Amino acid sequence: MEKIRIIEASKHIGEMVRIGGWISNKRSSGKIAFLQLRDGSAYFQGVVVKSEVEESIFDLAKSLTQESSVWVTGIIQEDTRSKFGYEIHVKEIEVIGESKDYPITPKEHGTEFLMDHRHLWLRSSKQHAIMQIRNEVIRATYEFFNNEGFLKVDPPILTGNAAEDTTELFHTQYFEYDAFLSQSGQLYMEAAAMALGKVFSFGPTFRAEKSKTRRHLIEFWMIEPEMAFMDQNESLEIQEKYVAYLVQNVLDNCDMALDILERDKELLKKYTTLPYPRISYDEAVDLLQNNDFDIEWGEDFGSPQETFIANQYDQPVFILNYPKAIKPFYMKPHPDRDDVVLCADMIAPEGYGEIIGGSQREDDYEALQTQLEKHGLDIKDYDWYLDLRRYGSVPHSGFGLGLERTITWLSGTEHIREAIPFPRLLNRIYP
Ligand code: ATP
Ligand code: MG
Ligand code: MG
Ligand code: MG
Repeated sequence: MEKIRIIEASKHIGEMVRIGGWISNKRSSGKIAFLQLRDGSAYFQGVVVKSEVEESIFDLAKSLTQESSVWVTGIIQEDTRSKFGYEIHVKEIEVIGESKDYPITPKEHGTEFLMDHRHLWLRSSKQHAIMQIRNEVIRATYEFFNNEGFLKVDPPILTGNAAEDTTELFHTQYFEYDAFLSQSGQLYMEAAAMALGKVFSFGPTFRAEKSKTRRHLIEFWMIEPEMAFMDQNESLEIQEKYVAYLVQNVLDNCDMALDILERDKELLKKYTTLPYPRISYDEAVDLLQNNDFDIEWGEDFGSPQETFIANQYDQPVFILNYPKAIKPFYMKPHPDRDDVVLCADMIAPEGYGEIIGGSQREDDYEALQTQLEKHGLDIKDYDWYLDLRRYGSVPHSGFGLGLERTITWLSGTEHIREAIPFPRLLNRIYP
């Protein structure tokens, strides 16, 4: 008899099969028991009819507890009434591992309790759906960049110097040296682009974010493409094409997950329309000031400001050309004015905030050196990085997309902690 996974049920209608799974729920009467089964691939229903099985099997079915693991043997049948479309008419049940007093029921417990039990919370259908979307975003990312001719490159995680804000760095010891966990692979990706042309990385990123928000993890994953011979406008075109591709693939391949999450698919569909609107930082400040926001030119936007701007559009929106003073040293100034840089943030709709930050990089040796000095950075630490401008410097651009931000948005989840299997948050490193 064939051992199958629930997801394959449609290919085995009318056949006797064996499935290993867990009992996620159960209902029974005197004559029939309905078992909600999950096996990690999907969910569906097992039906045990008293008159069709041995008495011991029916009694066993009635006694099964939540999250007990079982082998069930039965015949797959189409069932248009069930939301899964199929069910198994159970003939045999074998308990593999009993589960006594399963501690959590997601609908009934508060967040702290669920977070303490994250290892079990992951078994819920909502978390399952989010993890499927996470998988699809990763899969489609590799596919997209592969189709576009990018090479995947892995920058180091232990680094000797920091790309950006030093207050968020995780310090560690590297034998007799000081080292930091990577906050961004960008500088290395620039080197990779000079060697390989178009590259992207996908890796973990560590930031000691000191404030609690719904949008920040301490450990998150970032996709960082870097492109030689591309200016900021060409980079924006790649960015919107990439994000629209992610949305389309989630729509195409995560239908069931989106249903479980009750995500509005018509809304998601709008996010596949290109191009995405673009607004300059200057225009954004004017817009905010005209709507009673207390903001001066030169300040960075926080979540309320980003949400207000995003709400003017029904697609993701780019905010272009931020003030040089609030951006990192490596961004190239605008050719017509020195107070802003050639950069953009992509802001997700519906209040999900910044999902991409990107820029054209300073490619001039002298200008870069001056910027490093202005930022109080030690030129010695960046000697290798300056080499990229000494030996055949070219215009180049790149960006970083936050994986969990994107997943939070696509799945319509409240808080970023659900977009990663084991979130690292301020004051939480367990489980
Ligand atoms: P924010 O303004 O939201 O703090 P940032 O400007 O500091 O983000 P970047 O350095 O531009 O972030 O990083 C690129 C992308 O990484 C961001 O657009 C966002 O999607 C994601 N990101 C940044 N910080 C975090 C974090 N702490 N947790 C999860 N994702 C993050
Ligand atoms: Mg930040
Ligand atoms: Mg930002
Ligand atoms: Mg940013």
